Amino acid sequence: MKRSEERIPVAISSCLGGLAVRYDGKDKKDDAILSEFAPFFRWISVCPEVEIGMGIPREPIQLVQIEGEVRLRGVESEHDWTDRMTAYAEARAAWLVKIGVAGYVLKSRSPSCGVQTVPLYGAAERVPGMRDGLFAAAVRSKLPDLPVREETGLETRAGRLAFLEEVREYAAQV
Ligand code: SF4
Repeated sequence: MKRSEERIPVAISSCLGGLAVRYDGKDKKDDAILSEFAPFFRWISVCPEVEIGMGIPREPIQLVQIEGEVRLRGVESEHDWTDRMTAYAEARAAWLVKIGVAGYVLKSRSPSCGVQTVPLYGAAERVPGMRDGLFAAAVRSKLPDLPVREETGLETRAGRLAFLEEVREYAAQV
């Protein structure tokens, strides 16, 4: 991939960036993504769960449907993080706009960061289909044209090239 002169601000789930911020105290560092895009992107690391004060390690959370609403709750405690995450996500998305972010690499299957890969649980069983995590949904609502990928969408060279081109085009417009 041809090197650009100025690196473009692109957000990334902190765990993919190598920070040990997951619920189990580990990371999900993706060396291929980090090294391949290093000449082009200036990474903006974001971990919504840590930034709303959930701590490390922490109880796993999940999306649960309650009276027709999607809620973000602790798996065992059923502590409800929805309102705090929603308020945080709106503020963070506005900040991402302000700094001119031109892309986002998000962690798959996370109830906060996942993009159409997150299960939703009903009272008795899973609700059919997959959804966005609560944070990802807010970002995508605020920035509907922002190039977004989960790490799984960047496993091939063709996938990475396509994302780079999308990010460059987006950056040229903002
Ligand atoms: S998936 Fe998102 S919320 Fe979960 S550890 Fe990674 S950055 Fe934090």
